[in-house]
Amino acid sequence: MKVNILTRTDKRMSFVVDGIDVETANALRRIMLTEVPAMAIHEVLFIENSTPLYDEIIAHRLGLIPLTSDLDSYVLSEQCKCEGAGCERCQVGIQCSVAAKDANRNVYTSDLVSLDPKIRPVSDKIMITKMSKGSKLLFEAYARLGLGKDHAKYQAATKATYKYYPEITINQAALKDYEYKGDNENDPLVTMCPRNVLKWEKNELVVTDLMRCNLCGTCMRGLETPKGAVVVKAVPGKFIFFLESSGSMPPDRIMREGIKIFQEKVGRFGDLVKELIEKQGRAG
Ligand SMILES: [Zn+2]
Repeated sequence: MKVNILTRTDKRMSFVVDGIDVETANALRRIMLTEVPAMAIHEVLFIENSTPLYDEIIAHRLGLIPLTSDLDSYVLSEQCKCEGAGCERCQVGIQCSVAAKDANRNVYTSDLVSLDPKIRPVSDKIMITKMSKGSKLLFEAYARLGLGKDHAKYQAATKATYKYYPEITINQAALKDYEYKGDNENDPLVTMCPRNVLKWEKNELVVTDLMRCNLCGTCMRGLETPKGAVVVKAVPGKFIFFLESSGSMPPDRIMREGIKIFQEKVGRFGDLVKELIEKQGRAG
């Protein structure tokens, strides 16, 4: 499996994976979406709440706030030595103490104080509730790592998709009788492609941006296209992935974790098969 990163920002990335089949590509997509752990609030202890929202609604809203995650310092609570009771290796406290003394006010994620500065809301501007003058909100919340397959609030990636890697072959010889009028914007071969992948350059039809092609094949089937002039096909075993992070961690970390989890799963499956064969061998 070869990975090549195409584009990368703090929240989004695209990359090419070569040397896998479609089943592996889909397994990777699902793992990146639902099995890379991310932090989320899972328990809230209310001390005082005189806002218009019930405790349960505020707790639900808190759970859905994306938090930055630190996979190097924290472990899943079910894999922790504390056996899920909650300790500093698997849990972080987040406190809130707000009073609307003189006027109505809103409570935002900026009012949350995390006991670990590495675990904090991805944005300071998410509103939690409104408060009228004289009301108070005081609670202590606990965030821990979880998996997106158990609850969407633990999804580190908000989008993970892939498409086949396209290959476009243009046969210039088949185009020799085609009459190009020197106007790219009105040329049927150019306008036919909904993703604007093709254009004329010095009387030759060329590919502008291969990555934009979504293999729809309209260019091949068009009535104006000379037979065999354009051939679009998917490269077997090569896929382009698109990944978007909730902000919990950089997208390339989600990719690396996803690949690691996939390899661990394959390894575990192999061990189980070996064990089964040995057991059968002994029984036979
Ligand atoms: Zn623990």
